[in-house]
Amino acid sequence: MKTKASILLLSFFILITFWLSGCELSDILGSSQISNNSDAPLTISFIDVGQGDSTLIECENEAMLIDAGLYGNREKVINYLSSRNIKNLRYCVATHPHSDHIGGMDAVIYTFDVDTLVYPEVKSESASWNYLLDACDERGVSYYNPEVSDTFTLGGAELTVLSPAKGAEYENTNNTSLVLKLTYGDVSFMFTGDAEKEVERELLESSFDLRADVLKCGHHGSSTSTTKEFLEAVNPFSAVISCGKGNDYGHPHSETVTNLKNQNVQIYRTDKSSTIVAQSDGKEITFFSASGSEITQSKTETTLFEYIGNTSSYVFHRSDCASVKDMKEKNKMYFITKTEAVLMGYTPCGACKP
Ligand SMILES: [Zn+2]
Ligand SMILES: [Zn+2]
Repeated sequence: MKTKASILLLSFFILITFWLSGCELSDILGSSQISNNSDAPLTISFIDVGQGDSTLIECENEAMLIDAGLYGNREKVINYLSSRNIKNLRYCVATHPHSDHIGGMDAVIYTFDVDTLVYPEVKSESASWNYLLDACDERGVSYYNPEVSDTFTLGGAELTVLSPAKGAEYENTNNTSLVLKLTYGDVSFMFTGDAEKEVERELLESSFDLRADVLKCGHHGSSTSTTKEFLEAVNPFSAVISCGKGNDYGHPHSETVTNLKNQNVQIYRTDKSSTIVAQSDGKEITFFSASGSEITQSKTETTLFEYIGNTSSYVFHRSDCASVKDMKEKNKMYFITKTEAVLMGYTPCGACKP
């Protein structure tokens, strides 16, 4: 599949002076706001729930939620869903029974109209899990315990279940995580829950097409996930890490960030950028930071990104340089200032002399 994912970063405040050693793209993701009634047919929001996971997927008037963070952060999820005018969730996906994923889900089920809970075949006595099942029973939510290779749709998007296999037994609950791949037109996203190396290895041995434009890194960017081999197979253009600022686990681990950087993957982090939103028309993917104040996409495209870098040559150009026209969309990296480009290791083009 030809990927034409292009990334536009809507940056408002570039705090270069606070630039530290790491150069993840999310460092320069400033604040911008997307409209709650955006016309994008596919909107995927990686909601900032601190240390945890919660991803809202909206496709052509249908919505689903993958995980809902800790119980203590339930209001963040509920408020965000409300801000997106969500009334009904066709699916709530509980990737695995850990509280940083499903703690807030019973509150979501009591607040919104949820059709179906999608969950892996696991036995759990955790309080969060029991609260979740109680909520589903009380609210008449149906259950779907999918098998590997099952597919289901959300609007025009198709989701494929990659893991866990029925009857598979894992000592580590993280590995029971439902792993889903979403495909919409030419673009694809992989959601891995907290699945770790063991599952990544199994996926590498499977016959699934693992390639995805965007990877939600497993286990909050822990070194237990996102191995080099797995990354090579998924070959994402961008990766999202959902973790809390200054979390106790040191997530994301430096091994993960290094693996991603070595593969030229653009990294977005909820601990740095808060909620991260990816929108797509099925051909291109645009990333936004959902916090902050108003900048429209077109304004940003025309006024903010003066410089464009090539992610394979690490040369940056003025946006009107002839070589930008020949640059593959997926190789483009947008900069507002020259300083940003230089700090990220790019050198100026000899022709347009930015
Ligand atoms: Zn977990
Ligand atoms: Zn987790």
